[in-house]
Amino acid sequence: MLNIVIFGAPGSGKGTQSDKLIDHYKLFHISTGDVLRDNIRRGTDLGKVAKGYIDQGQLVPDELIIDILAQVLDDNKENIQEGVIFDGFPRTIPQAEALEQLLADRGTKIDAVVGLEVPEDELIKRILLRGQMSGRSDDNEDTARKRLETYHNQTSPLKAYYEEQGKYRAINGLGSIDDIFDLIKESLDSL
Ligand code: AMP
Repeated sequence: MLNIVIFGAPGSGKGTQSDKLIDHYKLFHISTGDVLRDNIRRGTDLGKVAKGYIDQGQLVPDELIIDILAQVLDDNKENIQEGVIFDGFPRTIPQAEALEQLLADRGTKIDAVVGLEVPEDELIKRILLRGQMSGRSDDNEDTARKRLETYHNQTSPLKAYYEEQGKYRAINGLGSIDDIFDLIKESLDSL
């Protein structure tokens, strides 16, 4: 079993590299952003609550997203046996602590945190480019800047948190998709 967190700012390439990781390592993909967007599309109560936060570039409250993640793990007991790629979760220290507990309760743990490191001006460029195709309501310049601020204030402390546990793998997130994936593979193959 291989459990990986793919970590980085909005626009750092987490979704793109997740697709390649799933393919290569046969992992089950859990993207909390995708779960929330799916709920928004279906007009669920959760979707209505989440939309307010997402459109403001803010995080959905920890208790809510932790419950969602626990539910996804429970609903996919069969699918997660080979391992999981966590994309967009955890985003705060309490979420990381909750993840540790959820996995410990299931007899497993996070093996590595792949941190995609990309300079700020490039992040904005990529988000705006994606916005032209994705139709995501939060891929506009104003919300992108708020999301980056949220990332710096609430999510970036996780880098030190996972460094202390010896799990953080810094990856240069600038370059071609395949070159970046080669760096990730190299780093994970030494596990
Ligand atoms: P993403 O697709 O990962 O960029 O997530 C899009 C938006 O969904 C974020 O800007 C947050 O508003 C919300 N979101 C996704 N994952 C989380 C999480 N782990 N904690 C809180 N909010 C989240």
